[in-house]
Amino acid sequence: MRRKLAAGNWKMNGTTTALSELDALQDAARGAAEVLICPPATLVAAASAQSGKVAIGGQDCHSAASGAHTGDVSAQMLKDAGATYVILGHSERRADHSESDALVAYKTQAAWAVGLTAIVCVGETLDEREGGKTLDVVGRQLAASLPDDVTGANTVIAYEPVWAIGTGKVPTTDQIAEVHSFMRSTLIQRFGNDTAQAIRLLYGGSVKASNATEIFAVADVDGALVGGASITASDFAPIVAALN
Ligand code: 13P
Repeated sequence: MRRKLAAGNWKMNGTTTALSELDALQDAARGAAEVLICPPATLVAAASAQSGKVAIGGQDCHSAASGAHTGDVSAQMLKDAGATYVILGHSERRADHSESDALVAYKTQAAWAVGLTAIVCVGETLDEREGGKTLDVVGRQLAASLPDDVTGANTVIAYEPVWAIGTGKVPTTDQIAEVHSFMRSTLIQRFGNDTAQAIRLLYGGSVKASNATEIFAVADVDGALVGGASITASDFAPIVAALN
């Protein structure tokens, strides 16, 4: 049985005053669903110190364990700061920092090496969707971004269509169902049924309280990766409630 996961990605938003949102999420985090907040790297340690029932994650890590990589953060540093998860291969990282599938796979191995659970993101652009290439793109990203030793404990996959991120545009439930079912069967083929059935598949892209219930009812949607609507507890708690 896969435990539902409501994950918030604060992206490049939030200074210390934002940490009070974690206190306001404690009630929401008492339900069956796991609640995770991924604040900017500067807040991971402070967030972990007051996270209570909310898990804390990073938004990226370097593929190397340490070394001359100015401005980067290693998986060990996130772990040391109290993180238990790290988002990898987000489309904003793929676009802003030219991250390839191969690099995402190396980062995933770096996360696993210190015991972090990797949330590996995949998803098509609008051009790819309109060109009928969605499943090709998602299949290629899954094949090349996931190392071989995936388990339900070390990896979560987030399907985030690029055109739905921060736009208010959401795929139809049929479109979400098609991709999630495709991802599940792709994982079954590669990793076998037991492993594939243990991996949580999140949907991300313009999730809000008003559409969460409908999205969470889709088969093979095990939760959400939420951007804008995760920044305040008043927006995020109803999304968590919809999952419980
Ligand atoms: P929005 O929820 O703001 O569309 O962002 C989704 C996302 O990119 C989460 O990682």
